[in-house]
Amino acid sequence: MSSVADNLRLVQSGIPVSVRLVAVSKTKPVEIIKQAYDAGQRVFGENRVQEILNKKDHLPSDIEWHMIGHLQTNKVKQIISFVSMIQSVDSLKLLSVIDTEAAKAGKVIDCLLEIHIAGEETKSGFAEEELDPVLEQVKNDEFNNVRICGVMGMATFTDDTRRVRQEFRHLREIFEKIKNQYFKNNPFFREISMGMSGDYKIAVEEGSTMIRVGSLIFGERNKI
Ligand SMILES: *Cc1c(COP(=O)(O)O)cnc(C)c1O
Repeated sequence: MSSVADNLRLVQSGIPVSVRLVAVSKTKPVEIIKQAYDAGQRVFGENRVQEILNKKDHLPSDIEWHMIGHLQTNKVKQIISFVSMIQSVDSLKLLSVIDTEAAKAGKVIDCLLEIHIAGEETKSGFAEEELDPVLEQVKNDEFNNVRICGVMGMATFTDDTRRVRQEFRHLREIFEKIKNQYFKNNPFFREISMGMSGDYKIAVEEGSTMIRVGSLIFGERNKI
């Protein structure tokens, strides 16, 4: 069986250096995460608040934790002090709570707007048509403690690579449109987080700047 370090190297060597790899460590124990850390990985993605809280104190403090799963507003304050990026902002309410809590903590938090690009009903995120009203509101509310750095999305889980490519292309188009309209001279708005174990190569071809890879690095997840 190949090691976590080997798997990491394999993924890393297949993507341009300009694309960041977020190692998705959800459900994996700290010993396994430590193996990735020792191989040089510093950015990790988790999708449950309680799970990050359980793990982070047992791991080096220079890890960048990215929240990639649905975040309930009442849990924001539990992670605000240490999380580097919240990739899964899926409502204006959540953005506003992140802003409030970040202000209390004296921080500015990097966020991505999660956008629903897949055909499936189950995937979360903003619908494309919700974005204009939300971004207008963001402009008016002047959230000073969140920095919107780009978009995140998940393609449909399917073998139909044409469809997956189409969905990633769509996310990139949305990114460009928003950038032109709302973040034209904003150097921070530059991230397109797309691509997972099964589709990251297509995502990179379609302009991903950040891939989120779990099972290819750490092995299949234990069902929890
Ligand atoms: C679990 C998860 C991933 C990683 O999935 P793999 O298929 O294991 O690479 C990426 N993004 C999000 C939002 C996830 O929840």
